[in-house]
Amino acid sequence: MAAYAPVNFQSTLTGAMQLVNAALQTACCQGLYGTAATRANGFAPGTVAQQLFGNGNAAVTVGGSLLTSTFVSAGPVAPVALTLGTPSPLVNVAVFINTSQLVNDTWDTAITLLHELGHVYNDVPSSGGSQISRGLSDFNGANDNLIVQDCLINKPTQ
Ligand SMILES: [Zn+2]
Repeated sequence: MAAYAPVNFQSTLTGAMQLVNAALQTACCQGLYGTAATRANGFAPGTVAQQLFGNGNAAVTVGGSLLTSTFVSAGPVAPVALTLGTPSPLVNVAVFINTSQLVNDTWDTAITLLHELGHVYNDVPSSGGSQISRGLSDFNGANDNLIVQDCLINKPTQ
């Protein structure tokens, strides 16, 4: 068994990762994450996304930084997702995904994973950063609009 937690999220995550992996094969979506140089040197976003999210809870070292993901059923009040970066001595980045708010919604899960992936790049300077930024664009929807526009324009019918 893979490390999915909770287990009822497995099919949602599988469907979302199909969208994420397809998106991150396009130059347009890749362009949101890092630079051409960093993408060619350990920070290919498709690889990072697959390692960090593809099999549920994960802990992976990328470019000397420890990246973790935790999928947790935190209920309807807690945030959909949260990414916390600790800058010293090495950069550790922890992503939390609230499966309660995403279960059975592959579309919103894909947006959420691509959004938090941007914050991972924000928090790891050697990744080259991300056009997904913290602050206003988190609250006015600009980040998610950018993700839909550059990564997920062809919404599948469900
Ligand atoms: Zn955000």
